[in-house]
Amino acid sequence: MKKLFYFTLAFFTLVSCGKEKEVEANKFEFDGIDESIKPGDNFFLHVNKTWYDNAVIADDQAGVGSYSFLNIPQKKLLENILEEVSSGTHEKGSADQMVGDFYSSGMNTALINERGFEPIQSLLDQINAINSIPAMMEFVANEYKSGNGSLISMGVSPDNENSSVNMLHFGQTGLGLPDRDYYFKTDESTLEIQKAYQAYLTKLFELIGNENAEQSTSTAYGIEKQLAEAHKTRIERRNVKANYNKIAVADLKINQPNIGWSKLLDHFGAEADSVDIAQPAYYAKLNTMLPSVSLADWKTYLKAKVLTNYADILSEPFETAAFEYSKIISGQAVKQSRAQIMVNKVDRQLGFALGQLYVERYFNEEAKSRVLDLVNNLQKAFENRINELDWMSDATKVQAKEKLYTITKKIGYPDVWRDYGNVNIDKDKFFENVVALRQNDYQYGLDKLNKAPNKDEWGTTPSTVTAYYNPPLNEIVFPAGILQFPYFDLQADDAINYGGIGMVIGHELTHAFDDQGAQFDKDGNVKNWWTDEDYEKFQAKTQLIIDRYSSYTVLDSLHLKGALSVGENTADNGGISIAYDAFKLTKQGQDTVKIGGYTPDQRFFMSIARIWRVKTRDEYLRNYVKTNSHSPPMWRVNGPLMNFTPFYEAFDVQPGDANYKPVEERIKIW
Ligand SMILES: [Zn+2]
Repeated sequence: MKKLFYFTLAFFTLVSCGKEKEVEANKFEFDGIDESIKPGDNFFLHVNKTWYDNAVIADDQAGVGSYSFLNIPQKKLLENILEEVSSGTHEKGSADQMVGDFYSSGMNTALINERGFEPIQSLLDQINAINSIPAMMEFVANEYKSGNGSLISMGVSPDNENSSVNMLHFGQTGLGLPDRDYYFKTDESTLEIQKAYQAYLTKLFELIGNENAEQSTSTAYGIEKQLAEAHKTRIERRNVKANYNKIAVADLKINQPNIGWSKLLDHFGAEADSVDIAQPAYYAKLNTMLPSVSLADWKTYLKAKVLTNYADILSEPFETAAFEYSKIISGQAVKQSRAQIMVNKVDRQLGFALGQLYVERYFNEEAKSRVLDLVNNLQKAFENRINELDWMSDATKVQAKEKLYTITKKIGYPDVWRDYGNVNIDKDKFFENVVALRQNDYQYGLDKLNKAPNKDEWGTTPSTVTAYYNPPLNEIVFPAGILQFPYFDLQADDAINYGGIGMVIGHELTHAFDDQGAQFDKDGNVKNWWTDEDYEKFQAKTQLIIDRYSSYTVLDSLHLKGALSVGENTADNGGISIAYDAFKLTKQGQDTVKIGGYTPDQRFFMSIARIWRVKTRDEYLRNYVKTNSHSPPMWRVNGPLMNFTPFYEAFDVQPGDANYKPVEERIKIW
């Protein structure tokens, strides 16, 4: 407490302002508030319009903001680490050596370019030699180990019905466009993306000397489109129960003989009596297509898959072809610097080794304990809200609270760092390094099969600016990357921190009780813990969220997909409410002293508006709305605030204001 006071004095200047004491602060000020936009008309723009007017999206970016990969300063820090460790000599197998040498190998573009597509020549030869469906499936399985999910997608994670044991899950795959819908929609923007994708395939075929490149593209694309017909939509995949189908391998052998399940599992090195076929229609279709499509056409398709899987780690012409396609979707004008491209690749392949180096340099341990305090306060506030719910019976409330207090909290970085084993990272072998690391990932996943889930494991790297809730393990995770401004700062007042990381914590806690989370019990099993009546009421409330968000228009006629984003929107609504209640338990939350001209409550809501501001290109936004389960920034803020009465009071929102909703239309679930 003393320490905190010291910091407060060091960073704030106390000034007198009439009878009210005002505290001036620097980065904790809210600059650029647009007073011409009433908070009740559009609070998000009231706070952020000036920022949007001034924020410039760099040519090599799809957007700019604090969140996720758009946080450029964060990625610059990682680049600094990589530059530093790659210039030294380190013990073989150490985090510094692996990270440094992997980075160096990727920076050596002269060598990468010199090799052309020689690194994949042996794979192309193997495809040429395939003479039967079983031989083809063996190739598919082997390639999967190197990250090439051509026709089969497999993962190891807890059994939905017995979360204490990991099992094999097989999912739909096989496409090159971002989503199955992209094969069937006929609007202008989708047609442009289809065209760019086909041009990309043609370019890749040409680069390996295929004289009938366009014909090959048409063959590969035609197969993808057939597979896409059997794909479930993203909305259909939100239904947890419908996407879990435990089947005995013995039955699969009989029902889908062309896939050759026994041999396939052998090739994967996986032992299982039963597996989850998450999307059965896909595998049924694949089984039918295997003999009906000619082997020659399958081989063309597999070449397309090899090319697209490795294009970005081959020589410049391949890498450029991949970028030319991706930019149609992202809107990004030019490639990122090679160093920034490598930041992403190191984070993806060696993220926990890099994370270790990041945490050593940039993470303040005090943040961990302070954020844990916040999590505990939010948990308490959530419990109070559950107690006061007028629509839920006591029986279900008991279950809900039990689940709430069973949630595991992971903050900062893993207690146990992932060991990358004896992967050999060589300064001069970029392609081989990537393949070795992908194979290591595969083996790492497979080693978990038939065992209890590893509770020390993290699903995101420590430097990533994100957070998540994981239903099968009933855990919330906040990596070091998000424990910094504007989400959190040890020197910030509680209004900023509760409106920042507090809102994020509340959001993740609510995921345990959104449309999907509600189907998992406290132990991570898909098991009903609700009374029938309560669950019906919950679903009716969830439908209100779906309908409300579906009514929002993002670009021209593009509507939000309420049914796709319902979980995230539920979490945004719950998150703000819980964070606010927890904030009201703090000293500042109960006070009225203004800082920078704003009341504690006003600062809390302004902090929420600030953390989500992200400016993206229209192309990126269009794809985001179609494929991402989160609402775009403005609706992450205005959407929940329209439903939250304390916001109306803090900013005197009145009937007639554009975003005003009468009390009975303010949706509240949690
Ligand atoms: Zn979320």
